[in-house]
Amino acid sequence: MPDRSDVYKQVIKYFDSLRTNEQSHLRQKREEVYAACPRVRQIENEIAILGITAAKNAIDSKTPTKDIVELKEKMDSLKAEKIQVMKNAGFDPDCLNINYKCEKCHDTGFIGQRECSCFTQKLVEMAYSSSNMREITADENFDNFNINYYSSQTAQGDIMSPKENMQIILSVCLEFTKNFSKKKDNLLFYGGPGLGKTFLCSCIAREILDKGYTVFYTTAPQLFKTIEKERFNRSQEEESQTGFSDDLQSVDLLIIDDLGTEFNTSFTSSELFDILNTRLINKKPVIISTNLSVNDIQNIYSERITSRIIGEYKVMKFFGKDIRLIKKYSYNK
Ligand SMILES: [Zn+2]
Repeated sequence: MPDRSDVYKQVIKYFDSLRTNEQSHLRQKREEVYAACPRVRQIENEIAILGITAAKNAIDSKTPTKDIVELKEKMDSLKAEKIQVMKNAGFDPDCLNINYKCEKCHDTGFIGQRECSCFTQKLVEMAYSSSNMREITADENFDNFNINYYSSQTAQGDIMSPKENMQIILSVCLEFTKNFSKKKDNLLFYGGPGLGKTFLCSCIAREILDKGYTVFYTTAPQLFKTIEKERFNRSQEEESQTGFSDDLQSVDLLIIDDLGTEFNTSFTSSELFDILNTRLINKKPVIISTNLSVNDIQNIYSERITSRIIGEYKVMKFFGKDIRLIKKYSYNK
């Protein structure tokens, strides 16, 4: 288990280097723009001087209104000129502004004395990066979800086609992310492999992260392994610090992928119950994805777990043909 204070220091360092990199990138860009259009540098100097005068005027109440208006007009026209000069030279006029990853804290990690959500997320990611977090790649987003991989043929005995089913599931997922701040839904995805459960979990995770919430995304085996490690390896001193179990309870969204692939024992069962139950009480959403059927869940897990999951979760069944095979086949064509 990583030492908390070490991780904290690492995260502080991460934010420091993030800003240093942004600033050096900006410096480079500025040199590039100045070299191509020296007028931009002049304009910036003129704006800076006008800014000082404006500040003086603000203190001195005797400045005639006419002068203030004139100054503002000069300032505006210089800004407009700068944009024009840059555009003419083929630069994006915004390229001299820092493009913050987090608009809330401007990549400082803090809002006043308070940790920003991006800081908390980084803390969780760094603490478990090697062991636990499932990485979400950039192409795992709703825009890349292709419903056409699902068949529109309704199989005998089914009430709808896989495609119609996915349309419903997709709209539940979109609804979930849209109303994340208000509604505290829990989702259960179940069904055979290769039907897009993990992909949809990632899409949701990405969207919720982008909204500035913290997400912990793990597979069931990794989850229980980490709990076990912490439970049996923690020293007494560490016991008093915040640990993995606290993180599991404090993140805004917990995603447990592949439930049922863990080595099931009474230990994992009781841990699972604790996690799900406490999060339910605290109205903190969970998404579970599993290849098990509802019957399997009932057989494998205790009655109290099953009743929590079936009773408190939006249960969604994935069915149809393994789309990984369909994709492979269509690429080969
Ligand atoms: Zn932030």
